[in-house]
Amino acid sequence: MKDHRRTKIVCTIGPASRSPEVLEQLVRAGLDVARLNFSHGTHDDHRETYARIRAVEAKVRRPIAVLQDLQGPKIRLGTLDGEVQLEPDQEIVISSEGDFTGTAASGRLPSTYPHLAQDVKPGEMILLADGRLRVEVLEIEGPDVRCRVIVGGVLTSRKGINLPGSMLSIPALTDKDLEDLKFGLDLGVDYVALSFVRTPHDVTRLQDRMRQHGRIVPIISKIEKPEAVEYLEHIIDVSDGIMIARGDLGVELPPEQVPRVQRTGIRMARERGKLTVVATQMLMSMTTHARPTHAEVSDVANAVFDGADAVMLSEETAAGQFPVRAVETMSALAASAEEAPEAFMTPDFVESLRSSHAWAICRAAVVTADEIRADALVSYTHQGLGPRLVANWRPRCLVIGVAKTDEEVRRMGLYWGVRPLKLVAPTSVEGLLGSVENAGVDEGLLKSGQTIVMTTKIPFTDEQNTNMLKVHTIERGRR
Ligand code: PGA
Ligand code: MN
Repeated sequence: MKDHRRTKIVCTIGPASRSPEVLEQLVRAGLDVARLNFSHGTHDDHRETYARIRAVEAKVRRPIAVLQDLQGPKIRLGTLDGEVQLEPDQEIVISSEGDFTGTAASGRLPSTYPHLAQDVKPGEMILLADGRLRVEVLEIEGPDVRCRVIVGGVLTSRKGINLPGSMLSIPALTDKDLEDLKFGLDLGVDYVALSFVRTPHDVTRLQDRMRQHGRIVPIISKIEKPEAVEYLEHIIDVSDGIMIARGDLGVELPPEQVPRVQRTGIRMARERGKLTVVATQMLMSMTTHARPTHAEVSDVANAVFDGADAVMLSEETAAGQFPVRAVETMSALAASAEEAPEAFMTPDFVESLRSSHAWAICRAAVVTADEIRADALVSYTHQGLGPRLVANWRPRCLVIGVAKTDEEVRRMGLYWGVRPLKLVAPTSVEGLLGSVENAGVDEGLLKSGQTIVMTTKIPFTDEQNTNMLKVHTIERGRR
C-alpha cells in the first residue's frame, strides 16, 4: 500500500483551494475530509464547492467526507471605518446596536450581538480580534458598554468578540445556523460541526432539528467555551465526536490550559468510542511559508500521540499560499509520528460501552487479528459503529470499513486508520465475503492467500449492531 498514514486529514476549503485543480491536488495529497466553513461564503459558493468536491471524488475514486461547520453564536464587531487603533487606558464604547459604522474619532464601535449590554457586567473582560486586544467593562449605559482598553492594538471590521466570563443569552443555534443546516442537509453533507457548544442540550437540539428535517448526520461538537470543558463528558455522550477548536478555546480559556484539554478531551472521547479532531494553527506558518516551524512539526506529532483520529488545516488550505504543500506536509508528519508506540495506545473504555455486544465483538476481532497475525481487519457496517470501534483499538494491521452506500463509506473519512470500501448490498455472509475478496483484491488492499478477520452482523438490518466474528483466508474468485 502506498499510503500508510492512519491519522485522517481535514482541510478547510476556501478561496485558495476551491478551484477544481487545487481540490484534486489536495485529495491526491491526502485530504480525507473537506470542511465547509459557514462563517464565510454564500450558499451559492458552498453549493459550487460541494459539487466540485463530488466531481473530484468521482475522478480520483476515493470517498471524501464533507463536514459542514456551523458558525454558532460567534459574536463579532460590525463595520468599522477602516482601521481603528486602540491605546491602553483609552475609554471606548462597544454597542449592542450594530447598524452604524464605528470610527476611531467617536470611540463607539458596533457589535453584531443585540444582547451584549444585557449579558456583560462591570469588571468583566471583553476580548477582541482572537484575544489580541482586551478591554474591561466599566459601565453599561442603555445599549452601550463603556470599556477601558487594557491591551491595545488595531481593529478592523467584523473581528471576533469573545466574552469568556459572561453567561450568554444567545442560543447555540442561531437563525443563520438553522438556515445553513437545512441547506447543508439538503446538499448532502456527511458531518455537521457545531461551534461554541456550551451544554449537551445544544447538541440534542441540533439532533432534533435534523430529525425534523428528515436527515440525521453525525455531529461533531466544537470544544471552544469554558462551559464545554466543564460539561465535556456529557457533551461527548450525546455527540458523535468532538473537535478541539484551539483558536477560540485558547482565547476563552487561559491558553496554557489548552494542551491539557486537548489531551483529556481526546482520552474521554476515545473511552466512549467517539471521534476526535484537533484543529487550528497546526501548520499556521505555512499560510505564508513553504515549510513549517519546528514547533508546528511537534504539534502535529503530539496530536497523533494524544490519540486524535484527525488533524485539521484551516487558513493553511482555505486562504494560504501553499495549500497542497500544507497537506503533503501534514500527511508526512502524521505518518512519521505513527512510528512511535504512543500512536497505538488504547484508553480504558467506559462501562457503558463495554457492556455492548458490538464492543465485545470488535475487541475480540482485534485480539484475534493480532494472535493469528491477520493481514486485515474488515468491518461491515450500516451506521458506522463497527469500524469505529475496531479502529479505536488502534490495530497494527490494515482496517477495511465496508459499507453499501456512498453516505456510509464517506463517513469513514474521519475514522483513524480505516480504508473505506463500497460493495453492493450483500444478502448473506457468504456473499459478503465473496464481495470483500473481489473488491479488496481489485482495489489492491488484499491478496490471495491472506487471512482476514471480519466483523459483521446477522441479520443485515439497521437495527442490529455488530454481533459476529469470522476468520477467513482470501481465495480470489471463489464466489
Ligand atoms: P473556527 O473554529 O475556525 O470556526 O473558529 C476552530 C477554532 O476555533 O479553533
Ligand atoms: Mn472557533
